[in-house]
Amino acid sequence: MLEVVKLNAFYGQAQALFEVSLQVRAGELVVLQGLNGAGKSTLLKALMGLELRSEGQIRYQSDPADKRLVNIERWQTHRRARAGLGYVAEDRRLFSGLTVRENLQIAAGPDALHRQATQARVLDLFPALKTKLNRPAAQMSGGEQQMLAIARTLMTEPRLLLLDEPCEGIAPVLVESIRDALLALKDQGMPMLVVEQNRLLAAKADRLLVLVAGKVRGS
Ligand code: ATP
Repeated sequence: MLEVVKLNAFYGQAQALFEVSLQVRAGELVVLQGLNGAGKSTLLKALMGLELRSEGQIRYQSDPADKRLVNIERWQTHRRARAGLGYVAEDRRLFSGLTVRENLQIAAGPDALHRQATQARVLDLFPALKTKLNRPAAQMSGGEQQMLAIARTLMTEPRLLLLDEPCEGIAPVLVESIRDALLALKDQGMPMLVVEQNRLLAAKADRLLVLVAGKVRGS
C-alpha cells in the first residue's frame, strides 16, 4: 500500500538519500535498520513531506476502498496525514503541558462518541497510560512519553504507521510493552514501517531493509 520509487532527498545541497526504493504491502511490518546518519529518519521525513526537498515517487493507497496507488510526493504533510499516514517522530513532539488525556483527545476527530471508542481501543494497547490520563505529559518517563506519542498518532486512525526508533533509550520493561503493543497492532493488520537499531522487532519483520549511506540494501 506504499511504494517508494527512486527517492532522492536533499538538505540544501547535501544529498541524504540516493534512489531509495521500497514497498510496504497491506499488513506488513517492514523494519528499517542502519547506522547513525545512514538516512533512516530522513526517509520517514521525506515520506511525510517534512523539512527537506525530495525527488522520486511516493505512491500510496490513499483510498481504503480503492487498491490503486496514487502519487503523493507533491502532497503537503497534512494531506498525507489525513490520507492515513501516521508518523511518530524520534523526538515525540508531545504537548508537554497538556495531560495524557488532552494529548490523546487533541489528535482525534470531532465526534465525541467515536473519539471515546477510539481512545478505549488505543488504551487497551497501552494499559500503562490508563491510570495516568490526568498526568501532564512532561511528568511521564521517556518510555511512557513514547507510548503516548504512538497512542496519540493512533487516535488519528492511521492506515499505515511510520515509527522512528520507538524503543530507543527506553527502560527495558517499557520497551517490552511497546514492542508487544506494536506486535498486537501488526496482528490487527496495521502496516508499519519501523526504524530501529536495536533489532527488537526485526525478528518479527516481514521484510528487513538496511540503509547504508543513504542507499537501501535488502529486499
Ligand atoms: P540516527 O540513527 O542518528 O537518527 P539516521 O539514519 O536517522 O541516523 P538521518 O538523521 O536521516 O540519519 O541523517 C542522514 C544524513 O542527513 C546525515 O548525514 C545527517 O547529518 C544529515 N541530516 C539530517 N538532518 C539534517 C538537517 N536538518 N540538515 C542537514 N543535514 C541533515
